[in-house]
Amino acid sequence: MAEKVTIIGSGPAGWTAAIYAARAELKPLVYEGAETEENRLKGTLPLGQLSLTTEVENFPGFPAGDMTAYLDSSIAEEKRRYMGAHHKRGVSGPELMELMRQQAVNFGARVVTDDIVAVDLSRRPFTVRTLSGTAFQTESIILATGARANYLGLPSEERFKNRGVSACAVCDGALPRFRNRPVVVVGGGDSAMEEANFLTKFASVVYIVHRRDSFRASRIMADRALNNHKIQVKWNSTIDEVLGDDKSGVTGVRIRSTTNPDEVEELEATGYFCAIGHTPNTEFLAGQVKTNEKGYIVWTTGQRTYTSVEGVFAAGDVADDYFRQAITAAGTGCMAALDCERWLAAQGIE
Ligand code: NAP
Repeated sequence: MAEKVTIIGSGPAGWTAAIYAARAELKPLVYEGAETEENRLKGTLPLGQLSLTTEVENFPGFPAGDMTAYLDSSIAEEKRRYMGAHHKRGVSGPELMELMRQQAVNFGARVVTDDIVAVDLSRRPFTVRTLSGTAFQTESIILATGARANYLGLPSEERFKNRGVSACAVCDGALPRFRNRPVVVVGGGDSAMEEANFLTKFASVVYIVHRRDSFRASRIMADRALNNHKIQVKWNSTIDEVLGDDKSGVTGVRIRSTTNPDEVEELEATGYFCAIGHTPNTEFLAGQVKTNEKGYIVWTTGQRTYTSVEGVFAAGDVADDYFRQAITAAGTGCMAALDCERWLAAQGIE
């Protein structure tokens, strides 16, 4: 018999959809992703982008405080061990994701630690294939596979991730290591401008390193950055290497001129923020669901999470190239579950 609803993805959108679908007694099946080396390198391990961050200070309901007793009482012991010691600063990204996952499991969501590698959306029930080689049918699908931040691909970026290297100033900018110290932002689009401006609240100076001599960003965003006295732009420059050591994490960057490749300069910095865009995780859909020009899934009806394929819904960053916040992903995950529940009921599947 076909599954009623399969949720693909395990960030805030996927778990919120799972909590709602489970409470609606739809017995959702959640594919949370596989723990493969390929996924680790791509930044697409189970629990999504939040599992790659440290403190989450802007998810409502989690003010700073000692969460130890609460986590001990709500999360399975083996997961607590993997989460490590808690530092009394409120909830961390991995903890928040484990809490959401546990909440979904408590209500009866079934979770499989595997990737979906292919789907056939040409007829219902849909056929879904997994990395481990199984296939099954499902009446509906909620796509919540998120997006991954693009990095330049330097080994030194990888080495210092979470220790000064980040792709989200809103998530990490207020951390103590960036306060009153210089930081670097790479990129020349709206995200880079926004991240740089945001970081000036905390950092002593923000260097924007951009490979050309003009920004791609909208005029207003670019002007705001250019007029901010704490921001210095390094035009026509690329990052050669993120500098640092095991004890301190990031200590600076080495940049190279694009106009004169022999010209290198070292900038002292405690942070390196990569803002060169994101890539939505949609490869397994093989073009069967309509996307926009940047590859993000399109909602085909205003205020609904419907996609171009009836019975397929989308939530979270895979359908959002604009807000990209944990709370907005959770909100659209809820919407997708409600849309899906009503659609299934209309089909007589309850
Ligand atoms: P984006 O507009 O695609 O800009 C990416 C930037 O990264 C470009 O300046 C690009 O350089 C640079 N870049 C890309 N690959 C690079 C590489 N390998 N090495 C060095 N530099 C590289 O992406 P985004 O800034 O994330 O914005 C995405 C969308 O969200 C845009 O539509 C944007 O308007 C929107 N957004 C809006 C707001 C807002 O209005 N508040 C805030 C954030 C984002 P080149 O310019 O040389 O190509």
